[in-house]
Amino acid sequence: MPFTARFTDDRRHAEPVGKIVCVGRNYAEHARELNNPVPSAPLLFIKPASAAVALETPLEAQFERGEVHFETELALLIGAPLTAASPAEAARAVAGLGLALDLTLRDVQSRLKEKGHPWEIAKAFDGACPLSAFAPVTGEVDWQALHFTLDIDGECRQTGDTGDMLFAIPELLAEMSRHFTLEPGDVVLTGTPAGVGVLPRGAELRLQLAAGAGHGGIEAVTRTAA
Ligand code: ZN
Repeated sequence: MPFTARFTDDRRHAEPVGKIVCVGRNYAEHARELNNPVPSAPLLFIKPASAAVALETPLEAQFERGEVHFETELALLIGAPLTAASPAEAARAVAGLGLALDLTLRDVQSRLKEKGHPWEIAKAFDGACPLSAFAPVTGEVDWQALHFTLDIDGECRQTGDTGDMLFAIPELLAEMSRHFTLEPGDVVLTGTPAGVGVLPRGAELRLQLAAGAGHGGIEAVTRTAA
């Protein structure tokens, strides 16, 4: 069944997810921790709709296929179609702010990267994109001032501030829309800050987003499968 994003007030979005457009290395510190160069243009990739699941307990993550890394990312729910949009148009099309895990089979990805092969199977597998509920966007958003965290078993593992992004959200969405039309229901992942690591089994994950005045926040708590 196609996945449809949910808002924090329990409404479902009108359209199911068609695709999830993602950016790699949007925070300089994360690029460095994986020994990757800091890119001069956003490095884009897509997860299919079949990768989307609700961020719920138990979180299944294909643990049997090698090390699964968590990457905590601000997720944007698209509410209006965008093709070759301006940054201002793109920012106005965001219908919801949420959090996602960009789950990555890091061993598989490293082997494929070494060979220069595409690494879809490391990032686009079923369940590779757990999504929280989305806070509805009701007015102006300060795109430079969103703050999020991931705690695992009570320990803070990742903190993200959109002000530290290499490509700010309006420009990032505009760039994405030059390559892929963003459709209502699609989700955009905006990159992970530093601190990625192995997702443990049987652990409690707490993801929190402070979305600024008027948009409240999100707190999602889940457990990984034992
Ligand atoms: Zn990522």
